[in-house]
Amino acid sequence: MRTTLSRLLITIAVMVVTLAGMVSQAAAFEVIAVPEGINALNLAAGVDILEGEDGRVQLSTAPGDDGIIRRIEVVAVDPEADPNFAAFALRNEGDAQIERLLVAPFFRLPGSGVFLPDLGGARVNALTPSQGLRPARVPDREADVFEIVLDPGATVTLVAELAGDDLPELYLWEPDAYRDYVNSFTLFRGTVLGISSLAAVFLTIMFVVKGRGVFPATAALAWAVLAYLLVDFGILGQLLGTGNQAVQTWRAAAEAGLAITLFAFLFIYLNLHRWHIRFTHLALGLSAIFLALLGYAFIDPVIAAGIARTSLALIGLLGLFLIALLSIRGYDRAILLVPTWVIYLAWLAYAWMVVTGQVSNDVAQSAVAGGLVLIVMLLGFTAIQHAFSDGQVSIGALSEVERRALALTGSGDFVFDWNIDRDRVNVSDELATRLGERKGALRGAIKRWLDRIHPEDRDRFRTALDTLVELKRGKVNSDIRVAGFDGNYRTFKMRVKPVLGSDSQVIRIVGTLHDVTDERAARERLLHDAVHDSLTGLPNRQLLLDRLERALMRSREFDEVKPAVFLIDIDKFTDIDERIGHMAADSVVLGISRRLSRLLRPLDTLARVSGDQFAVILLSEQSASQIAEVAEQLRKALRTPFNFGDRDLSLTASIGITIYDNRPVSAEDVLRDAELAMHYAKRHGGDRIEAFRAATRSIAVYAQAMEDDLEQALDNGDLQLLYQPIVDMHNEAVVGAEALMRWNHPERGPVSPSAFIPLAERTGQIEKLGRLAFEQAAEQTRTWMNEPGLGERFFVSVNLSAGQLTSESLLADIRGLMREYRGVARHMKLEVTESQIMSNPEHAVYMLKAFKELGLGLALDDFGTGYSSLAYLHRFPFDTLKLPSAFVQIHDDASMSHTQVPIISSVVALARDLDIGLIAEGVETAEEAERLKSLNCRYAQGYIYGAPMPADELRRKLNGKG
Ligand code: C2E
Ligand code: CA
Ligand code: CA
Repeated sequence: MRTTLSRLLITIAVMVVTLAGMVSQAAAFEVIAVPEGINALNLAAGVDILEGEDGRVQLSTAPGDDGIIRRIEVVAVDPEADPNFAAFALRNEGDAQIERLLVAPFFRLPGSGVFLPDLGGARVNALTPSQGLRPARVPDREADVFEIVLDPGATVTLVAELAGDDLPELYLWEPDAYRDYVNSFTLFRGTVLGISSLAAVFLTIMFVVKGRGVFPATAALAWAVLAYLLVDFGILGQLLGTGNQAVQTWRAAAEAGLAITLFAFLFIYLNLHRWHIRFTHLALGLSAIFLALLGYAFIDPVIAAGIARTSLALIGLLGLFLIALLSIRGYDRAILLVPTWVIYLAWLAYAWMVVTGQVSNDVAQSAVAGGLVLIVMLLGFTAIQHAFSDGQVSIGALSEVERRALALTGSGDFVFDWNIDRDRVNVSDELATRLGERKGALRGAIKRWLDRIHPEDRDRFRTALDTLVELKRGKVNSDIRVAGFDGNYRTFKMRVKPVLGSDSQVIRIVGTLHDVTDERAARERLLHDAVHDSLTGLPNRQLLLDRLERALMRSREFDEVKPAVFLIDIDKFTDIDERIGHMAADSVVLGISRRLSRLLRPLDTLARVSGDQFAVILLSEQSASQIAEVAEQLRKALRTPFNFGDRDLSLTASIGITIYDNRPVSAEDVLRDAELAMHYAKRHGGDRIEAFRAATRSIAVYAQAMEDDLEQALDNGDLQLLYQPIVDMHNEAVVGAEALMRWNHPERGPVSPSAFIPLAERTGQIEKLGRLAFEQAAEQTRTWMNEPGLGERFFVSVNLSAGQLTSESLLADIRGLMREYRGVARHMKLEVTESQIMSNPEHAVYMLKAFKELGLGLALDDFGTGYSSLAYLHRFPFDTLKLPSAFVQIHDDASMSHTQVPIISSVVALARDLDIGLIAEGVETAEEAERLKSLNCRYAQGYIYGAPMPADELRRKLNGKG
């Protein structure tokens, strides 16, 4: 079809040139020689328009071959009318008869004009020749067509009575060629109409199925295009039965329809109503104007069509502006519309050239019509693309994300949204602010994001996202560190999942980032605390033993330096504690640790093994005299007074020393030797240094004395349990009690369990002591349970020491006791520390499970100060965690309390996650209690609620509370 058209095009171009050469200068008006072998001849240049007078016109004919000029008069068909006439002359120069069709098209788009366009109409009412028969009218849908016959050598002047003022176009066609021409368009038009109506129907179905959104406007546009084509292709006139010479109003209405629906599409597609309410008003106003325009087409089609054509151009420019603006802002829909809009603008430019007559070939009009169909198809695709690929899933997901984003504002969560196709990461602006960046700095390609992620996290991040894209399901829930503007990393918990498109490919990865920097710092702190003393930051007993063990090994295997171990115990520290208060005592301990560490070399280790006890592994000195010298310096260092505001405090210490001699002993043994030497020093009045070897005998004597004392105490009942209330902080109701052992020494007064329990462990008395404690506690619990008024969930918890947990008889003892005290087990808990269970986890699991089966509760004591067994926690059947006082008590040291809060929070969260109880220890002030409550910690014990007290006192307290 296209080749036919272009052939015609060439033909016409050739004809116009030929015509120019053939015009005869001498004629009254030009005589056009009808060429042979040329399909179509444009007669426009050879036509004279004559104004009729009283329904008639007089004119002189062109001279015939005989040279005679005649005068003729032509009368209008309708005697009432006063039409114009068009006159032209044709000559047959050949020697055969010529048959031609004279064609005056009703409408032609090329040159029809923009503002007051020529909308076409009937052209020729009748045709009168100067000689021969009146040409017969040939029926045609889109033109006035007459058949003319020219004899050889004849010159005929033809006068056409015009329907309008003018005759814009007149063609002389070779009949067969004209039929071909019409037919060639029939195929093209059929195709275009088919596509157009398909698009209209399809988009209407989409509208019905999808209901809302952009489909109504898209479907309306498709229908408007179809209507325009029906008019333009000369079908509507036929359908209406009026003929195509009378469809001007419909043409104007169709053009107005195009402008209205295109505008509606643009407006709805770009969601302009969401941007600002004023847009909605503007749009409503414009819609009203457009509807008026549609009506106006039936009143004054020419002006209406002029407005419609101008509007199409204005919409093109408006759209260009809006789409450019919104695309720059990253609006998906606008970006998707860019290609179509470029094509629309190109179409506009072409249509303008056609309408203004700058392009005026045979295919121009069809090209404009075809272009419209192309545009409506592209717009339809764009709309569908949104409804399917993005639409159902992503738009849903997107608004889901938006909703979440709203919900998350201020909660510390940030939205993360990676659009995979466009490779664009979108994150909340608040995240940029958090990282000290300007807004939008974190948006862009995922590669740019990757560069910000901590090098150690990059692989994990990449793999995680890749896996999501490949598997198309699952979730990522992991920590990533992201660099801020200042280069510092913040840790975010990233929770994302894939969103699938209609083709079930992953189209985006969406989720949240939660800033966990503080929590992670706290967790690291917890791990640090596992091996470091929380007050001084020195290694704790655990780490000391670990280092000592390694030093011993090296010394044995490689015959390297022999470690010397000091145990330094501050004399009468309990007194000091009582005198100056707990907090001041803490700062004394800090002062001590600083003084001691100053005297040591990097090779040496200083550790705080318990409250007022420090230990040193000395590797920097080897000779006995040098070692003794260091010990002496340490002792002296403490004698220098500590200054407390208005008073000075002098300290003395007892120091026990042991120098390793390659015996195959454990670190614990070595430390115990130092400890014995220290006790020996203490026994001799304190403030002195004793070496273990020199004092073997005396130490044994000392130990024996204590051992005997304890033995006696066990028999005499000098060992007694005190009960410290455990309360619900909300109402201060006592919910349980911890049983704590006291030794009322006949000479030395009350001795702390911290002092005699290690002794009992060494001497094997711990089994007896443990049995005593448990029996007393069980007895007491039964008594309480039999009295009315105690809560059903009231419990008494009993401490177990390391030695007890490994003892053979403990389980049997407790089983026996639990048989004796029926029903008591569920009111009792056992407390063990992490280090106790971690020394032999397998055995511990076994024991703890056995206790659990007996119905006993299990509490993990001093959680977070022992091993870093967080990871193992779920292996042990604990039902309660005890938060040690180090995390609970508020000190002057601001940096400490800064880390306490996140530690408490994370332990609270951990307990909640594991679904176990949490009891805070050592609460002394209301401030501490308030802080715990605000961090959702509910249960506590401590001096503020009551120090350990005799059973009957606790009973009174319980009664007092009702
Ligand atoms: P623990 O299990 O951590 O016990 C808590 C300790 O903190 C107790 O010291 C208690 O008196 C003390 N305490 C309670 N409230 C506060 C407070 O508000 N502020 C301060 N600064 N301290 C408070 P206690 O009684 O000297 O016991 C020391 C350790 O001896 C206990 O630590 C426990 O591990 C062990 N122990 C106590 N009784 C027994 C027992 O019968 N058997 C065994 N095997 N060990 C025991
Ligand atoms: Ca305890
Ligand atoms: Ca404790």
